[in-house]
Amino acid sequence: MSISENIEKYQNALPENTTLVAVSKTKPVPILMQAYEAGQRVFGENKIQEMVSKWEEMPKDIQWHMIGHVQTNKVKYMAPFVDLIHTVDSLKLLKEINKQAAKHQRVIKCLLQIKIAKEEHKFGLHQTDAWQLLAKDIQDTLPHVSIVGLMGMASFTDDKTQIETEFKTLSNLHQKFIKQHPQLTILSMGMSGDYTLALDHGSTMVRIGSSIFGARNYN
Ligand SMILES: *Cc1c(COP(=O)(O)O)cnc(C)c1O
Repeated sequence: MSISENIEKYQNALPENTTLVAVSKTKPVPILMQAYEAGQRVFGENKIQEMVSKWEEMPKDIQWHMIGHVQTNKVKYMAPFVDLIHTVDSLKLLKEINKQAAKHQRVIKCLLQIKIAKEEHKFGLHQTDAWQLLAKDIQDTLPHVSIVGLMGMASFTDDKTQIETEFKTLSNLHQKFIKQHPQLTILSMGMSGDYTLALDHGSTMVRIGSSIFGARNYN
């Protein structure tokens, strides 16, 4: 199927109020433009430099989502335009986003990335640290960030039961958090291989790359 057919397929298959993030990392601008022309406006990238150069070249009504690990010293490059950062995993990073957003008179939306996978290398906050971070009334002290939800990545495995357990964990956590912090409406979970499971467990935002754009050569 073509890229535009893939976009249409997802737009039709996803429940209402579910956002499709087209994960376009490593793909060149003409490929992204095929998705754009099919109506896609939300794109996800995992490298700041790559996202900046695509933002410069592409139409300005695109919402750019950062889905990769963020180094504090690179926040400044995306602060003028990034719509949503999925991968906030420390107070230090949140403070830097606030500082850089202020320079552009912006409020940058953020998700707290929660570690749900078993693998050691996966980034993210532990549940208790995320809870403590939210308890600090950061929304009062950091007016240029807006924490709007949670994000998680399941283990890279074929074991559906394990993936499901991890999604359940995040979903339960989201339910608990939203009671205390009703602004945390977004639950970003699910990729090409596991998005239907994620939807079953309350995902409101899926990040789909390879099954829209085809396999990647790297990353
Ligand atoms: C690459 C990536 C995706 C998309 O993965 P696919 O399996 O290609 O759909 C989703 N989320 C994150 C954080 C990624 O880095």
